Amino acid sequence: MPKIYFIDVTNRDGVQTAKLGLSKLEKTLINIYLNEMGVFQSEFGFPTTRHETHYLQANLELAEMGVLKPIHLGGWIRAIPGDVETTFKLVPDIRHLNLSISTSSQMIDGKFQGRKKDVDIINDMTEAVDTASAHGAETIGVNAEDASRTDVKFLIKFGLAAKDHGATRIRYCDTLGYDNPFTIYEATRALAENIGLPIEIHCHGDLGMAVANSIAGTKGAIDGGQDVYINTTINGIGERAGNADLVATILAVTKSKKFAEKYQLGKKVNLAKSSKIAEFASYAFGIPIPINQPGVGANAFAHSSGIHADGVLKDPENYELYGYKELGRGEPKFVETGREIITGQYSGISGFGHVMGKMEVSFSRREEANEILELVRYANVESQRPLVEDELLFIAKYPKVAKKLLTLTPLD
Ligand SMILES: [Zn+2]
Repeated sequence: MPKIYFIDVTNRDGVQTAKLGLSKLEKTLINIYLNEMGVFQSEFGFPTTRHETHYLQANLELAEMGVLKPIHLGGWIRAIPGDVETTFKLVPDIRHLNLSISTSSQMIDGKFQGRKKDVDIINDMTEAVDTASAHGAETIGVNAEDASRTDVKFLIKFGLAAKDHGATRIRYCDTLGYDNPFTIYEATRALAENIGLPIEIHCHGDLGMAVANSIAGTKGAIDGGQDVYINTTINGIGERAGNADLVATILAVTKSKKFAEKYQLGKKVNLAKSSKIAEFASYAFGIPIPINQPGVGANAFAHSSGIHADGVLKDPENYELYGYKELGRGEPKFVETGREIITGQYSGISGFGHVMGKMEVSFSRREEANEILELVRYANVESQRPLVEDELLFIAKYPKVAKKLLTLTPLD
């Protein structure tokens, strides 16, 4: 039986969302948490965007060091040869890419306005795939942007051309959240059966169906005989109404009625990291987790009405579909209610030593402490938020990588 994998796109679709963004250190921590969680791939950024270069290189170094292993780090670019060339010039060690191009007549007519026809879309894409292969890309996903508004016959033709040129996967993008579970099932099944490549499912929530569509699309692709790679974002953060939420999608795939009897994960996921990753993303994006968010919202395991409270106390399964401990909840949280020393962009060595000492980190030489403090200051300049413990520990443990992450050189 084909299997299910997750590709999280928070560091690409999430950060390109209007009014939102992450620092390079925050993006790095997200990659680390996704790796700990067992997510197959993080779409970790934009290789042709100059301010991403050091961040992408630094994260590939972390992969080389074994810190970001076994997770795949995949870059997202347009499916044109020029973008592939720029990618390998700026980030030569990148090995996993998704190449994206619009396939619907709405987008081809509406965006390219007569400059491109169907045949040009396929030519651009296959040339981009060839260029990526020539540069040593190990996996090449080809994204059909606006696939849900594209004629399925054209999608199959597009997918077969990609396959002929050595693409690894086809991404079915429901870019506008237009599909419903019934239509996406038909589409992904037809693609799986007729193209014969693994299918990525990329769903948006404009009609409130991102998670439902993701599992229906998964069923379609697996029934069509292919592995599935579901695209998610942490807390569902993404363009407009957002993407399929990482935790909710994992829950839907593993806990919904009868689904997991036939449709199974290809790689074990550690749900116990859910709470931590959701809370960190919420903090880093500056967006609260909705109270009713599946699994990680404040009310996900709260009961007050008489019948529910009585029932859940007698047997949690009366009113809870899964346990809070499974999602990494239940540990008491430490909240400082007295004096607080915080490290920021203007901090000095004494306060910094105090903060690191509380985490049992000490420095053998004063110069070393000064260096780490300098990096912490820069990290704070970028995030404009007090760094969390894991960020401070990361900088102390990998100062060279942190320095690279924090180095932005515009107009270089
Ligand atoms: Zn998207």
